[in-house]
Amino acid sequence: MTGRRSSRARVWSRREAMRILGLGGAGLAAACGRPPETAPPTRSAAPVGPSFPEGAIVRTILEDVPPDRLAHGAVLFHEHMSLDLAFWDRLLGAENPARERFIGPPDSPYFMQDAEVMAAELEAAAREGVAALVDGGHDDMGRSVAFLREVSERSGMPIVASGGYYTDPFHPPELADRSEDEIAEALAGAAAAERWGAFGEIGSSAEITPSERKAFNAVGKAHLLTNLPIFTHTANGQAAEEQLDLFEALGVAPGRVAIGHLGGLDDPEAAVHRRIAARGAFVGFDRLGGGPDADGRKVPMIQALIADGHVDRVLLASDFAAARDIQRNGGPGYAKTITRFVPMLREAGVTGGEIHAMTVDNPLRFLAFVPPA
Ligand SMILES: [Zn+2]
Repeated sequence: MTGRRSSRARVWSRREAMRILGLGGAGLAAACGRPPETAPPTRSAAPVGPSFPEGAIVRTILEDVPPDRLAHGAVLFHEHMSLDLAFWDRLLGAENPARERFIGPPDSPYFMQDAEVMAAELEAAAREGVAALVDGGHDDMGRSVAFLREVSERSGMPIVASGGYYTDPFHPPELADRSEDEIAEALAGAAAAERWGAFGEIGSSAEITPSERKAFNAVGKAHLLTNLPIFTHTANGQAAEEQLDLFEALGVAPGRVAIGHLGGLDDPEAAVHRRIAARGAFVGFDRLGGGPDADGRKVPMIQALIADGHVDRVLLASDFAAARDIQRNGGPGYAKTITRFVPMLREAGVTGGEIHAMTVDNPLRFLAFVPPA
């Protein structure tokens, strides 16, 4: 098919993206796919920007940057730019017909292993208002740090790499063989060697298994060694509060944790979300951009959180993973949280300042940390 973008409803302009993110026109000029050399001008629509601890940085795969330098667009806290085919074999089974939706047709290279295609996708995301993305993969999902580095260099898009452990079926043997403290030390070492900017996505099943509990404890301890923020994978929101319990029991401050996939809960009043936010943790709505059918019920949950005073705890992202969704294949692309979901929030009456908090300020507050001396 020619005109690959023709199936998209419309292509977003940078100006539209900046308007909907509550960013001023001047900040717009900075969103050119590379972080600006100087701090962007003051925002026009957001009341007060966040403050960061002295010496706080966001650790991207290429460099440590002051958080303000990524404030010219949305920072998406849970996406995937690097997975391998073995991950999909284990997740879906090698014969699953849904494979093609995620990895593309058998005769084309897998987009998460094609740096040229991925760089073009991230350049498009920059034009649509994305300032940085966090990759949620790690060794047991087949994430390649070298690939992320190459893609970031080619596209100019800042990428935060992360690491840790996914769910029990993906756990490597070392998790059983080593003590929590040994695993924590190893995670801290890998984080330093590979420039991780977070631990994530740290996974649990619908009921947390013993091996998952061990992984959560080890990651919590690794956080105490490194100060790196932590984001999690829940089974559509199940065991969310228990995840936070595990980290808190170790002395991890809730404000350094984002509990993930909470948009998957059937909870119109957002009771679980509000309890997690009230404890001070971030609440992740991170599978957004699937359109009104998939996302419609998430809007009132976010509104309930805002009404309860928790706008500063909400994080938005898409958990991008499907070949079908890249722009090259006619999909919405990596900015779909902004281009497809944020307009639904605006339509429902969520203000520009609130959008700005959820898409710019909150992810930067989540990601910014002071490296230990
Ligand atoms: Zn994910």
